[in-house]
Amino acid sequence: MGTSQYMKSKNLRLCEIFKSISGEGLRQGVPAVFVRFSGCNMNCDYCDTKYHKYDFKMVSIDDILENEIVKKSKYFVITGGEPFVQHEDIFELIHQLSLLGKVEIETNGSNLYSNVLNLYKKVNPFKVLLTVDYKMDQASELYVKNFDMGLDLIKNKMQELGVDDRWFPLCCIKIVVKNKKEIDESYELSKKYSGFKIILSPCYGIISPTEMAEYIVDKEYDDLRVQVQLHKYLWEVNARGK
Ligand code: SF4
Repeated sequence: MGTSQYMKSKNLRLCEIFKSISGEGLRQGVPAVFVRFSGCNMNCDYCDTKYHKYDFKMVSIDDILENEIVKKSKYFVITGGEPFVQHEDIFELIHQLSLLGKVEIETNGSNLYSNVLNLYKKVNPFKVLLTVDYKMDQASELYVKNFDMGLDLIKNKMQELGVDDRWFPLCCIKIVVKNKKEIDESYELSKKYSGFKIILSPCYGIISPTEMAEYIVDKEYDDLRVQVQLHKYLWEVNARGK
């Protein structure tokens, strides 16, 4: 199949494209165009975008690149659902968007090793920012093994590229916590994954930001970072296209 035909194949399950403010991660607060895909291999009870499962249309890479909002932007957030459960065209799309600007990818951290391997085959690592969730309640042996291997891959790539190895600015780990036990576990993870920023967000409506922050200060968990999911405070909770 020629390149132009390949770019026109409608293999991607697009849920929505909209402009908003990056709500989480290392670039929280930055205006960005969100490209949300449909489908996920997890089923978290606190998922705030459940509509992604049934509300989508099949589109091509070209369809997305020709979108007027996309054409005007220089910062893209690829999200879902889980973007990496898409057809492999997702990697070419990320590459194409990285030629227009910077791309942040929000992933749930499953199959991290093979996803990052495929990503780095196609895309300049300096053009992508990975916001990797660590799902405490889904952390099976296989999940953790893949997660560890994925982070090693990112770490090795950053070192190979000469990125400051005191911490890796092209990837952060994000954890949504529901209670103090999960904050304790996050602190243990910060020792295991040293070099990566670990950002904690309180699960909305389950633990308050203040309770989470006070606990982190009291316990002197200084390697953790506190954030709130900004979109929940800027817009109506669970508003669509925000
Ligand atoms: S991994 Fe993310 S998109 Fe998938 S169900 Fe959980 S919160 Fe929703």
